[in-house]
Order: sequence, then C-alpha cells, then structure tokens
Amino acid sequence: MRDLIPMKTPLVEMDGDEMTRIMWGMLKERLLLPYIDLKTEYYDLGLRNRDETDDQVTVDAAMAIRRYGVGVKCATITPNAQRVEEYGLKKMWKSPNATIRAILDGTVFRAPIMVSNIRPLIERWSRPITIARHAYGDIYANTETRAAKGDRAELVITHADGTQTRREIMDFSAGDGIVMGMHNTDASITSFAHTCFRYALEARQDLWFGAKDTISKVYDHRFKDVFGDIYEAEYRDRFSQAGINYYYMLIDDAVARVMRSDGGFVWACRNYDGDVMSDMLATVYGSLAMMTSVLVSPDGCYEYEASHGTVTRHYYRHLKGEQTSTNAVATLFAWTGALGRRGQIDGIPALSQFAARLERAALDTIEDGVMTGDLARLSAMTTRIVNTSEFIDAIASRLQS
Ligand code: NAP
Ligand code: MG
Repeated sequence: MRDLIPMKTPLVEMDGDEMTRIMWGMLKERLLLPYIDLKTEYYDLGLRNRDETDDQVTVDAAMAIRRYGVGVKCATITPNAQRVEEYGLKKMWKSPNATIRAILDGTVFRAPIMVSNIRPLIERWSRPITIARHAYGDIYANTETRAAKGDRAELVITHADGTQTRREIMDFSAGDGIVMGMHNTDASITSFAHTCFRYALEARQDLWFGAKDTISKVYDHRFKDVFGDIYEAEYRDRFSQAGINYYYMLIDDAVARVMRSDGGFVWACRNYDGDVMSDMLATVYGSLAMMTSVLVSPDGCYEYEASHGTVTRHYYRHLKGEQTSTNAVATLFAWTGALGRRGQIDGIPALSQFAARLERAALDTIEDGVMTGDLARLSAMTTRIVNTSEFIDAIASRLQS
C-alpha cells in the first residue's frame, strides 16, 4: 500500500454525460484514487440531475468554484429539442457552460496537447498556440432586423438626461436590406484584457491581440485602447521581467503572422474571431480530444475541462455493448490541470508533481504508439490501436513504472 498524496481544499468536481461520464469514472478509479487522497465537492451535472434540480445544481457548482477557486468539469449535454424528447425534460435547459461562464465572468483559454508522433497540419506550428476568446457581446448579443425599400436606419443613443444622439446607418431608398446593432462594455473588455495579460505572464508566452481599428475607428479602436492602456499601466514591466512581449496588430496581419509562426504564444481573440479561429486551430493540431480548455475568471478562479463534447456517437455504441476507442486525454488533462493548480495554491508540491507525472505518462503512452482511433488516423507511427478502457490501463501501467 503506497502513501496517498494528501489534499487540503476540495476540488469542485462536476460530473457530466454520456461517453465522457463513463471515462470520468474510469479515470478517477484507475489513475487518481490509487495515488491521491482525493477531496472533491461533487456536483452531478448529468442531464437527468440538472432536470431534477431545475438546473440549480449548475448554479450551485459555479458558486462552489467561486468559493474554492478551482473546478474540473466533465462534458455535458446542451439540450436541444431532440434531447428534450430523449430525456423527457421539463424544459430545454441552458448550456451549463454558459451558466457557469455567466456566474464566473471569465475568459476561456484553449490549448492543444502536443505529442511528437502527431504533426500539426501546419508543420511549422511546433509549439502550441493558446487561443483566448472574449466570450461577451458583439454579434452574440446583437439586435438585428430586416429593412424594406424606403426605410431609413439610424443609431440612436438616449442619454441619461433624455437627450438623444443620432447617426444615420443607411438610407434604404434604393431597396431592401438588413441592419444590425451590437455592443460591448468597457468593464468586459477590461476584465478580458487582465485575464489575458495574467495568463500570458503565468505561461511565460507572448500575448498577441488583433482587431480592425483602421476601419472601426470607435468600436474596434476601443478594444485596442483598453488593451494598450492596461498594458502600459500594469503589465509592461512585468512582461519585460518575464522576457515576453505584448503585440497589437490588425486582425488580418495577426492571421498572416499566426500562419507564419512557430507557435508558442497566447492569441487573444475578439468574440467572433475566437469562435472561428478556435475551430481552425483545433483542426490544424489534430484531434478535438487533444485540446484542453480552462475558464479563468477576473478574480482568479479556474475551471478546467476538455474542449470536446460528450461523444454521443461512441456512447450509443457503448450502450449496445460494442467497444469504443474514445480518447480520454483532454478529460484527463482537465483533471491534471485542476489538481496541479490546487497543489500550487495549497502549497502541496507532491500534488502538482503527480499531475505533471500523470500528463507525462499519457503523452508517453501515445508516443510509444499506443493510441485511440482518432489519433491513429493522424499518426504515421501507430503500434497498437486500443479501446477506451485499454488506453487508460496503458497510461496506468506507465504511471506505475
Ligand atoms: P463531440 O462530443 O465533441 O463529438 C464529435 C465527434 O468528434 C465524435 O463523434 C468523434 O468523432 C469526435 N470526438 C470528440 N471527442 C472525442 C474523443 N474524446 N475521442 C475520440 N473522438 C472524439 O460533439 P457532438 O457530437 O457535436 O456533441 C455531443 C454532445 O456534447 C452534445 O449534446 C453537445 O451539446 C455536447 N457538447 C458539450 C460540450 C461541453 O460540455 N463543453 C462541448 C461540445 C458539445 P467520430 O464519431 O468520428 O469518432
Ligand atoms: Mg466555433
């Protein structure tokens, strides 16, 4: 019997759905519980329990992350009409990630997990590119409408004293069209900037940010100014001490430079850019199952998860008793990220070291050529394609040795 690594503060553990829920149990049982005196505060975010608790469990979990500072989340179903029927739901509950993000008010950082025997589609990207998406405002909170021939569209601001400022958007006298209004807030841009600067400092990587300030001289320019002012006032010295830089560029220039880069930086993206570019990055780096995601709040709370969903197609095969070859790496890295952070905050080096060792064991397994089907499709050097359970066992045996 080996000594278990102690913990002080519990992790906020959020269980989830389908195939990732199956893997969650396996990971805990085979890779964590034999080594750690695991302390968690458990929240079952599985769809059935969200329905039974009228989604209160999601709110409770988010509040617990605010209390304890670190959480780890399994992928969860975001219900649509088909899920409402499948699970007989009381209503179409909101996405748990959206609920948690609204409570923590954070920025999501996504980073690829790289292994030597899987090359990114863009070979130059030898180091990870971490993408930070500003998940507030812009077209995701827009107001839009169609306009008919003869309409005139104006932007109207009603000031606190009742007076109004008007700007013409378009005179549709020539024909039908469309109009959209969108917003952002200084508070949200400010907290986005702070989380990005702090994340880059901690990762010791340059921070890049791009917008279209030459065209959008008020809206996009505001993003540029807020980032620039905060950098000058609070981060320039710390960045230079850490040997890293902050670069602002036009978004088109940023895209061109990203393509020519070797990776190894944090890319802060506006809401839409982040939505689009994160899918591009995930594709270039290979598998969705090799992409981690962490939500960082402005007051320093961390919620770790995998970037992928509940892998429904595999789960249905699992239910029929068939073998699946689902990759548990991103879910495992959510756990190691959270445990490593907990160890750092609580001053338990053994916990952080174990998290690093477990990550290494997972990477070694793949680099030894033992991998799940999703990776075997991408790798030139596979020695053995394994199923979900065998893959976790292969990591466990490397962890032991
Ligand atoms: P998904 O679960 O990410 O899976 C899409 C496909 O990607 C899978 O069918 C599989 O391809 C491949 N894949 C993803 N993760 C994999 C893994 N770990 N190992 C091997 N292959 C993997 O996305 P989805 O099917 O669109 O969504 C399923 C459910 O997840 C939905 O109910 C959605 O609401 C939810 N979701 C949750 C989150 C979250 O909690 N953060 C995020 C996204 C989606 P093959 O079938 O070709 O093998
Ligand atoms: Mg997208």
